[in-house]
Amino acid sequence: MTTYKKDVQNNECPYCKGDGYFQLRLGGSETCACCSGSGRK
Ligand SMILES: [Zn+2]
Repeated sequence: MTTYKKDVQNNECPYCKGDGYFQLRLGGSETCACCSGSGRK
């Protein structure tokens, strides 16, 4: 397969994938410190 490249959205935070928060394993969510919850860089 040669379709390796993905179209990565430029301003999307790679840490939380644009969600702005993380899902915690034990439940609930935590604001992403990388983008301060905005989901963008
Ligand atoms: Zn983030």
